[in-house]
Amino acid sequence: MERPKTVLVTGGGRGIGAAIVEHLLDRGWDVAFCGRKPGSELAARVEALARRSGRRVRYVEADVAVRSDRERLLATVLAAFGALDALVNNAGVAPEVRADLLDLTEASYDRVMDTNLKGPFFLAQAVARHWAAGGAGGAIVNIGSISATVASVNRGEYCLSKAGIAMMTRLFAVRLAPLGINVYEVRPGVIASDMTAGVREKYDRLIAGGLTLQPRWGEPEDVGRAVAMLLAGDLAYSTGQVIQVDGGLEIQRL
Ligand code: NDP
Repeated sequence: MERPKTVLVTGGGRGIGAAIVEHLLDRGWDVAFCGRKPGSELAARVEALARRSGRRVRYVEADVAVRSDRERLLATVLAAFGALDALVNNAGVAPEVRADLLDLTEASYDRVMDTNLKGPFFLAQAVARHWAAGGAGGAIVNIGSISATVASVNRGEYCLSKAGIAMMTRLFAVRLAPLGINVYEVRPGVIASDMTAGVREKYDRLIAGGLTLQPRWGEPEDVGRAVAMLLAGDLAYSTGQVIQVDGGLEIQRL
């Protein structure tokens, strides 16, 4: 019997990550996910997901911005599952304060870049090293953002981190192609989650005014479905590509 496919999703406890976890479980994956919250807070959810799906589900408390946490995370997942077939770099933060570009602090820059770019980069590197050393592999999906190309001067550090994710996707696609590993970026637009809860009214107005071609908020499930489709291999002859999940927001119009 073929062994079940295994995937690690960072930041899978809530928001977009939680939807990714659920869609991957529905597609028959065994899923490990991480977050900053203690395991005791996620225990009931892990149990419910495992019971509902009949799959193996593991939660690891790990901060992707911290090297020792990343190392422990990967070792724990490999010990639990015996193999890792895919990585979804989803964990990310918005700036705590939306500060104008001229007021942006180094502390906020470091926090956002460490979580949104440095963490995903070195986690992908660690997983890729494991695959290159002979572990089964695999595919990587990085959750980027329309902020990679759409400039918001009141959260420049976030835009920079997501522009970095765009290049990171291309770099790993090139480096890992000889190993048969596909790498994708899923690029969400405006998605209803804790991250956007504080700007709900602003985006309600913008969406009503035509910001997106499809006149609604994106839902975490929209992103979860896209990730599950990519990891199912439905776009097997594509790598290094960006999949927009933004309701058509990025199309320029006159
Ligand atoms: P949420 O704020 O709702 O959730 C963030 C998730 O990331 C949580 O599970 C959180 O875990 C985890 N996380 C944050 N920092 C770390 C860290 N240092 N280490 C480990 N886990 C961490 O955000 P969304 O679900 O909206 O966003 C998910 C991804 O999608 C992010 O990369 C974001 O940039 C991107 N995105 C979101 C958009 C949106 O409109 N919402 C649009 C475009 C992209 P915990 O619960 O433990 O804190």
